[in-house]
Amino acid sequence: MTPSSRTATALTSVLAVAVAGVCGSVILRQVHDSGSAGLGYPPVPADARPGRVLAPVAVVSSGPYLAEHVLPGGVPATYDPCRPVHYVVNSSAMPEGAGALLADAVAAVSVATGLALVDDGSTDEPLDPHRDVVQHERYGNRWAPVLIGFSDARGYPALGGDVAGVGGSSLVQPRGPASGRLVSGQVALDVDVLTDLVARGHADQARAIMMHELGHVVGLDHVQDQAQLMYPRNRGLTSFGPGDLEGLAVLGHGVCHTDT
Ligand SMILES: [Zn+2]
Repeated sequence: MTPSSRTATALTSVLAVAVAGVCGSVILRQVHDSGSAGLGYPPVPADARPGRVLAPVAVVSSGPYLAEHVLPGGVPATYDPCRPVHYVVNSSAMPEGAGALLADAVAAVSVATGLALVDDGSTDEPLDPHRDVVQHERYGNRWAPVLIGFSDARGYPALGGDVAGVGGSSLVQPRGPASGRLVSGQVALDVDVLTDLVARGHADQARAIMMHELGHVVGLDHVQDQAQLMYPRNRGLTSFGPGDLEGLAVLGHGVCHTDT
């Protein structure tokens, strides 16, 4: 794991309406070749398509954004838009009502990126900052789906302090810089923060935390602009800002791979 940033956000409210926000982003393990990881790479998945799964989203220059992973040449690392981006949810500690919020957050990211995020159902895989990007026994010979789970600082130390969410993806570069891409990721959400927000009538902010972390998963980094949801502190925004949307659209325009 290579933490890119771990920005704790004070839970003290900056607005009268709500507790604010929360995030530590994280890059999961970066695998540069199969030899160093000892994993081998899975084959092109059966559900890969010759063209995009969903229509591309027009990129409108409208605000600041940053890509979390930038490949040599300045190209952002992205998921493959010609394959579904699978995810699983460990709901063992999921707060009541969070499932619907998560579905909304996933849908918002799919709409903004043009990436097909596909729910593979539930899992008992625990959150793990060092989780393997290929898990043959659990998921078969494919890139492990993005894992979304709920915990607290005791169960997942990265959620310590005021951090309410941690999200990121794994970058693999199987055959050189040109083929770098995101293949799997993880989102850890703080049970206590989400429960508190929902209980106080701020489900929209709980959903915004999920959207922020999923933004990291698809490749966005933090920006120092409070009008964007990717600002490291939640300032009460409940939807993506214009820069977020530009970045998400860009990240949905990745390369379709045929090598692995
Ligand atoms: Zn963040």
